[in-house]
Amino acid sequence: MKVTIYGSGYVGLVTGACLAEVGNQVLCVDVDADKIDALNRGEIPIHEPGLDELIHANMKSGRLAFSLDAKQGVDHGLFQFIAVGTPPDEDGSADLRHVLTVARSIAEHMTDYRIIVNKSTVPVGTADAVRDAVQNGLTERASQGDFDVVSNPEFLKEGAAIEDFMKPDRVVVGTDNPRTGELMRALYAPFNRNHDRVMLMDIRSAELTKYAANAMLATKISFMNELANLAEHLDADIEEVRRGIGADPRIGYHFIYPGCGYGGSCFPKDVKALERTARQVGFNAELLGAVEAVNERQKDVLFSKIHHHFDGQLSGRTVALWGLAFKPNTDDMREASSRKLMEALWQAGAKVRAYDPVAMDECRRIYGDHPALELCETHEHALQDADALAIVTEWNVFRSPDFESLRQHLKQPVIFDGRNLYDPEMLDKSGFSYYGIGRGKNA
Ligand code: NAD
Repeated sequence: MKVTIYGSGYVGLVTGACLAEVGNQVLCVDVDADKIDALNRGEIPIHEPGLDELIHANMKSGRLAFSLDAKQGVDHGLFQFIAVGTPPDEDGSADLRHVLTVARSIAEHMTDYRIIVNKSTVPVGTADAVRDAVQNGLTERASQGDFDVVSNPEFLKEGAAIEDFMKPDRVVVGTDNPRTGELMRALYAPFNRNHDRVMLMDIRSAELTKYAANAMLATKISFMNELANLAEHLDADIEEVRRGIGADPRIGYHFIYPGCGYGGSCFPKDVKALERTARQVGFNAELLGAVEAVNERQKDVLFSKIHHHFDGQLSGRTVALWGLAFKPNTDDMREASSRKLMEALWQAGAKVRAYDPVAMDECRRIYGDHPALELCETHEHALQDADALAIVTEWNVFRSPDFESLRQHLKQPVIFDGRNLYDPEMLDKSGFSYYGIGRGKNA
């Protein structure tokens, strides 16, 4: 089948590469000329395990191509996937500018039946707005065209995106046309062999399903962080509590890790956008507001601990920082906890020596040559002349360090662990001051 995908970011590239891999002819269209040039040279602009190989193999086979030309995109695919960004507007609602730009350009060039598939995360009602934009565009051209608009939200996780796309938990398809539903089912058939994971539903429910999933996951994290903070007041260990509650199958062990807050391009903006959607229809979604507020506060927790440990005297101090990405296996630093921590440390007059296995270029792109930031070649190198170590991303390479060498490198043996990677008792015995999240009174 022929597929066009607008937007060559995390979602567009993964969707394009995976659909090409199973035999479709895929054309990815983006408005960023540097990105398209780089892709055409075989350079992949993001870090995603397995993506480079998949894109190279499918470009070579002629099933995957990249273009700046929207007309070529509209001519190419029966399926027109919209996978552009939907960043938060000033008031927190999703900014649909890019989605509607694509809709208008489809209307401008459309000469035949097209299925317009919305893969971007968009508020309930956006399919109607896309339909109106296409219809108005056709009317302006004095043209008539047949098209359907489908909601097909994406649930992939950065860092495991290929695996998630190839073996999805579910494929949600919102459509009001049974025939379009069958065509979508056929497109996803190669990923749906083990058992039927395609869920056909009405469009508005499909749009809401994506926000509901992210809001539920964000709620789990904020709930655990709230409890972790309470555990510190009560001199209890949240890691023991986590084990205790996870054993209940109604709760389960997944996604209940306390930490220094969630980040990334999705949870923060989607929780805000859903709360905003609720407000627009006159519904006060109190829980969503609390989930967001708890997370904002949680991103300050490591800084507060550092500030307290050094009696507020941070000027002239150096903090080694392990991890910059918002989670392991990605270079994405959007809304990452590392950013809030670094910025607070700089504000207080401290310097940061940072290391991340893959997000160093992204950090350079964001902060340039910041005078109080040194990006180090290894995580050990980051420790040199540092007064303390702070950990914000749970990369595997940080899980079992050589504590003896760590003590020798640091000016003071003190660790602020935003992901609860280590055993407080063991570190205490080894002479470290150790601060985790929710690990008793001295955490
Ligand atoms: P991204 O910022 O990485 O990529 C978006 C791309 O769209 C950019 O390359 C941009 O240049 C391009 N673009 C903008 N306007 C365009 C236009 N008119 N025509 C063609 N291309 C255009 O975004 P992303 O992380 O891939 O997210 C895309 C959407 O998918 C968002 O709505 C997001 O919420 C959702 N989503 C993201 C993830 C994730 O993990 N990143 C997961 C599920 C859903």
